[in-house]
Amino acid sequence: MERPLVTVRNLSKSYASTKALSGVNFDFMAGNQYAIQGASGSGKSTLLYLLGGLDRPTSGNIYADGKDLADFSNQELAVYRNLFVGFVFQFHFLLPSMNCRSNILLPALIGNVLTADIEQSVLKLAEYLEVQHCLEKMPYQLSGGEQQRINLIRALSLRPKLLLCDEPTGNLDSVNSEKVTLLLKTLATQYGATLIVVTHDTKVASHFNQNLWMKDGHLFTRG
Ligand code: ADP
Repeated sequence: MERPLVTVRNLSKSYASTKALSGVNFDFMAGNQYAIQGASGSGKSTLLYLLGGLDRPTSGNIYADGKDLADFSNQELAVYRNLFVGFVFQFHFLLPSMNCRSNILLPALIGNVLTADIEQSVLKLAEYLEVQHCLEKMPYQLSGGEQQRINLIRALSLRPKLLLCDEPTGNLDSVNSEKVTLLLKTLATQYGATLIVVTHDTKVASHFNQNLWMKDGHLFTRG
């Protein structure tokens, strides 16, 4: 039976006098794939950051697997970010001083959960994405597309239940944008993750059957 993975209730976030989110309510169902569209400044990134535990709301609640994030200490929220959530951003945020293998395994090391199983599944994913030859290289030695695939492997390394992507195709041409979108969808399905993609690109969003829109801090199920 369908169940919500993440439930959002009366969620608001203000920055000084700016209301970035205004009373958002939504159930993100487990295993579903959502695209969120909306003009710049409509609150998309703010919603994503709150869902990912990168920031806390001004008011309202987020329940992940039934647990209220408001009850989490900062340390518990860090564990949530590390183990429950995978992040993919437009820019890759690979650490420049570490090779790609270390970048990928960093969340597992930080979470103290690195196992041979994880190393094996990371290697398999690198082969599937055809970047196994990049693992010993430094990020600067890779093309943008390769860096992005390494980033994707890192995001999936701990099999997150929630995969959050903020304009993941923002700096790609339309062919690569379509490829990455389909890849994200395929991998989220394979890994059983609930996928939420923020995009301003209607072509990217057209690949999703769960479309959401944001305007002035409100979330809508119709554009
Ligand atoms: P989007 O992702 O749709 O472009 P954002 O969530 O980034 O929108 O921003 C929503 C509103 O909140 C905008 O008016 C933006 O300027 C404001 N905002 C976002 N982050 C901050 C911040 N850290 N400090 C101040 N204002 C912010």
